[in-house]
Amino acid sequence: MTASSRPVVGIDLAGVETRPTGFCTLDQNLRAKTLLLWKDEEIVSHVAKLKPRLVAVDAPLGLPKGRCCLRDDCPCRSAGHLRECDRELLRMGLKLFPPTLGAMRKLTLRAVALRKILERGRFQVVEAFPHAAKALLGFPEKREGAEKLREALKKFGVKGELRRKRNITIHELDAVVSALVGRLWLEGEAQAVGKPEEGLIIIPKKPQ
Ligand SMILES: [Zn+2]
Repeated sequence: MTASSRPVVGIDLAGVETRPTGFCTLDQNLRAKTLLLWKDEEIVSHVAKLKPRLVAVDAPLGLPKGRCCLRDDCPCRSAGHLRECDRELLRMGLKLFPPTLGAMRKLTLRAVALRKILERGRFQVVEAFPHAAKALLGFPEKREGAEKLREALKKFGVKGELRRKRNITIHELDAVVSALVGRLWLEGEAQAVGKPEEGLIIIPKKPQ
């Protein structure tokens, strides 16, 4: 397999292993295959089997600069709750939850650990943020439901199983959006916001 024929994987990571994680394999012809996974080891073994060019994860892959953990009783808490990439998205008018607060905390810690495992396996991992991608690409929002998003993805040119899979979940569709952002990044159609040492978020360039 040549490098360019290897797929991109998109992952809509859940905060805990007891909730479903959306997983998408997107090939070079934009054929999408999706499934739901639960445990980290399932995610890692699927990635290892697919040998993707890139893994795009919908979850914070790093902590704000100066944070060593996400505990409230640690002095690092004074370093705050946002990364530069988060601030840049907020400045663009995109809403997000700080990676260090509430339910996001578990997700952030899980995502950071998963990134380390995947990077040890020599996979390239980037942070995609489907909410931002959907806003920039003019896709419908979550509250409009899965079918509207499926239609928007089809219109964008995503093919394969996505077109006909019954009862496709919003987690799988967000994984498709993540994979699509990864593909756009490889094709120079996306940009990275934030500081590399803290973590970058990849977002699509606005269509001309
Ligand atoms: Zn700390």
